[in-house]
Amino acid sequence: MPDLPSRAPEAPARVVFLGGVGEVGRNMACVELEGRVLIVDVGLSFPTHDQPGVDLVLPDFEYVRGRREDVEAVVLTHGHEDHIGALPYLLREFPDRVLPVYGTPFTLALLEGKLEEHGVRDRAELRTVTPGEGASIGPFSMRFMRVTHSIPDGMAVAIDTPYGSILHTGDFKIDQTPLDGRPTDLHALAEEAGRGVHLLLSDSTNAEEAGYTASERSVGPVLTDIVARAPQLVVVACFSSHIHRIQQVVNAARANERVVVFLGRSMHQSVAAARRLGLLSVPDEDVLPVEALASFDPARVVVICTGSQGEPLSALSLMAAREHKWVRLREGDVVVLSSSLIPGNEPAIHRVIDGLYRTGADVYHVPAAPVHASGHAAAEELRLMLSLVRPRWFVPIHGERRHLAHHAKLATEVGIPPERVLICEDGDVLEVGEKVELAGRVPAGMTFVDGLGIGDVGEVVLRDRRKLAGEGVVVVVVAIDAHHGQLISGPDIVNRGFVFEQAAGDILEAARERVRLSLRESAEAEVTDPGVLEQNIRRVLGRYFYEATQRKPVILPVILEV
Ligand SMILES: [Zn+2]
Ligand SMILES: [Zn+2]
Repeated sequence: MPDLPSRAPEAPARVVFLGGVGEVGRNMACVELEGRVLIVDVGLSFPTHDQPGVDLVLPDFEYVRGRREDVEAVVLTHGHEDHIGALPYLLREFPDRVLPVYGTPFTLALLEGKLEEHGVRDRAELRTVTPGEGASIGPFSMRFMRVTHSIPDGMAVAIDTPYGSILHTGDFKIDQTPLDGRPTDLHALAEEAGRGVHLLLSDSTNAEEAGYTASERSVGPVLTDIVARAPQLVVVACFSSHIHRIQQVVNAARANERVVVFLGRSMHQSVAAARRLGLLSVPDEDVLPVEALASFDPARVVVICTGSQGEPLSALSLMAAREHKWVRLREGDVVVLSSSLIPGNEPAIHRVIDGLYRTGADVYHVPAAPVHASGHAAAEELRLMLSLVRPRWFVPIHGERRHLAHHAKLATEVGIPPERVLICEDGDVLEVGEKVELAGRVPAGMTFVDGLGIGDVGEVVLRDRRKLAGEGVVVVVVAIDAHHGQLISGPDIVNRGFVFEQAAGDILEAARERVRLSLRESAEAEVTDPGVLEQNIRRVLGRYFYEATQRKPVILPVILEV
């Protein structure tokens, strides 16, 4: 049973971290007041190479499941997958309720498409909020503040407690010259500080980076220059939700009398939502449908697509493999990867970049070319946030352990006493009273989505998959007499990924002989139980294969009793 700390009367508020603290991705936290629960963000993450076959990784919903009746609402800080991606799965946990979900227009526009795809649109009541305003539900009274980030419409949220507010920054940078002219609302943050911020939870992603993150605007001239000098087709890959980046690519195209082609489903959805909300300005006459590309002068086109993280089957990966239906890259074409290399994705990205170079195209990417600016605050901006907000207590969030440690150090450097800076991990429960302290743990493991299954693939299955991938599998089929245990036919040995059958006939023949011997010994000892026979075969073959090959394939005996 999880260790669920009881609420002391003098500590009416709690914060429970269910994801994103000690890892990058699947951000989710519960803020609790008077026994009620407000969920901040419900994100997902993508599997690492040691999670073969896994499609998505969700937060563990067990804790929320136990508090189902207490959940008031969900607040979404912005529309990135690591903040909204798991919400459709969470809503399935509330089959008989309609959950209020607060977010800005662009966040909710992206969410709505996802909810429809998952068939859970009717489980959520979307409540649009405007940064600068507030909202109340149950015991929660919230204020929303605009922040700049690599997606439009991001916000921080302050939630009142009897001791002052809990301020959750969401993902942010302090961009003084954002493309939409709507900077991080320092004034509102200062006002919040004036009211008294009891606990600050702040984005740690770039805590290791010194100085300030470059303004999004700095990328525009670089892109315009690349497009101006390109003799033929230009392809720019970026995140589909990075509307301000897309705007700058569109501007660069227009400045060079080129039209744009949008490629990819998520790109089309995101661009359509942003245009509808007035966040992206692209004249219709500037947009060329991809089907018209073949009959158009490539020197008059910029293709904007997804795939900057090396995702298989994305437009960019297909171009790198020369398998894209509409875009055939050739010598003189230019490809720009206008995004960061998200840790863990490097091998896939590098493979795509290598493929792009092989087509003869010229490729621009970070760090070699300044074609990207991060959406997260670097050390000086984090210090500014801390100094501006002056929280009594501080917990760094949104980062791996080293990011959190760096951020904690920044906090003590600006004068927050070390004993008031807490480094937490997923599953930690904080009691927020006069003091903020660690008060227990709740389950916060990973829930894997694989195909239609949610949570049915666990560590045991993954261990098998890693073993199958690493050592292969050997299937041994024998038919035995049900009464006496004598071998009637076989053993037939089939292997996949262990040895090449035609080259390793000796090994497999010797293996067959050992199985025969093992079965004969069992029959003589009057052992006929199939479970025991399987175990014997597994042991005998395991030992032999290791001696002969120094490998440990998965051995699957199949015993047919006739
Ligand atoms: Zn994030
Ligand atoms: Zn984000």
